Amino acid sequence: MVNLITLGIESTAHTFGVGIVKGNKILANVKKSYTTESGGIIPMQAAKHHERYYKQVISDALKEAKLDIKNIDLISYSHGPGLGPCLRVGLLATKELHEEFKIPFIGVNHCVAHLEVGKAVTKAKNPVLLYASGANTQVIAFEGGKYRVFGETLDQGTGNFLDAFGRYIGLGFPGGPKISKLAEKSNNFISLPYSVKGMDVSFTGLLTKLKQLYDSKEYKVEDLCYSLQETAFAMLLEVSERAMAHCDKNELLLGGGVACNTRLKKMSEIMCSERDGKCFIPDNSLLVDNGAMIGITGAKFYNPNKKYKLEIRPYERTDDVEIK
Ligand code: AMP
Ligand code: MG
Repeated sequence: MVNLITLGIESTAHTFGVGIVKGNKILANVKKSYTTESGGIIPMQAAKHHERYYKQVISDALKEAKLDIKNIDLISYSHGPGLGPCLRVGLLATKELHEEFKIPFIGVNHCVAHLEVGKAVTKAKNPVLLYASGANTQVIAFEGGKYRVFGETLDQGTGNFLDAFGRYIGLGFPGGPKISKLAEKSNNFISLPYSVKGMDVSFTGLLTKLKQLYDSKEYKVEDLCYSLQETAFAMLLEVSERAMAHCDKNELLLGGGVACNTRLKKMSEIMCSERDGKCFIPDNSLLVDNGAMIGITGAKFYNPNKKYKLEIRPYERTDDVEIK
């Protein structure tokens, strides 16, 4: 049902986003994100942030699309995976719009939405997605009739790892972009633990080592940030490349906030060109959490004959998504 005018609502974590799409055309994509000067996300506070702003974000998106709520054919909301209190605000907004304006709705999986928006806005046809965000890090592809996870983090997401180190060295939240700026000032590589286990990656050992080296005061912080990026991103790309080889796919698609990183983009392009593959990178506004990706995915899967439940699924895995 891709020609429906769909309002997509994203609220899995720090961002409350509303996108309005028609087919693969994005008419509006507005968001408001919860940030802190120090410390990480406190789920209840992020949810309070979303409660405060959700009506405004919805009305800003309608204004940007030059539409009225009565023009909306479908509401698509992210039902998971994510933080329960934050997901509940997206659910509440959906429920209100559904009850007041009788607009049908569908819930979608946030990780799948990162893959679908990339396919919709780039020329990628059948890619392997490297999805590296705050909480999630997975290598995903549609294979054998369903979305499958070929590799993933065994502990924290790449973004949370970056942010944890950023916090440790006093950069506030989110630390990823600030680490990237510091890394650009160095090309002095310090050898760090490289943890690829089969098709999975792990960041906690790397984080511990980085904290120790930072505390030792023997290294410049720029050198630590540079070496951190080189090591962590090489781990992600080793697993992505192996997934491409295993699935016999020659397209890599990037998704997730960490993919805004210029060095990760560059390394991805190098890996793809070395194996005669293609690298597809959506605009940064579509890499980070956003409502347009939820709208595009909901419109793709919506079946008007099906009855959908208004519910959240905080722990839904990519490979649990039902495909009809
Ligand atoms: P997401 O959860 O997909 O919205 O992504 C948020 C994560 O992306 C946070 O952990 C950020 O630190 C990280 N991030 C955003 N921009 C960059 C960047 N330029 N380099 C590295 N990480 C980034
Ligand atoms: Mg995300």
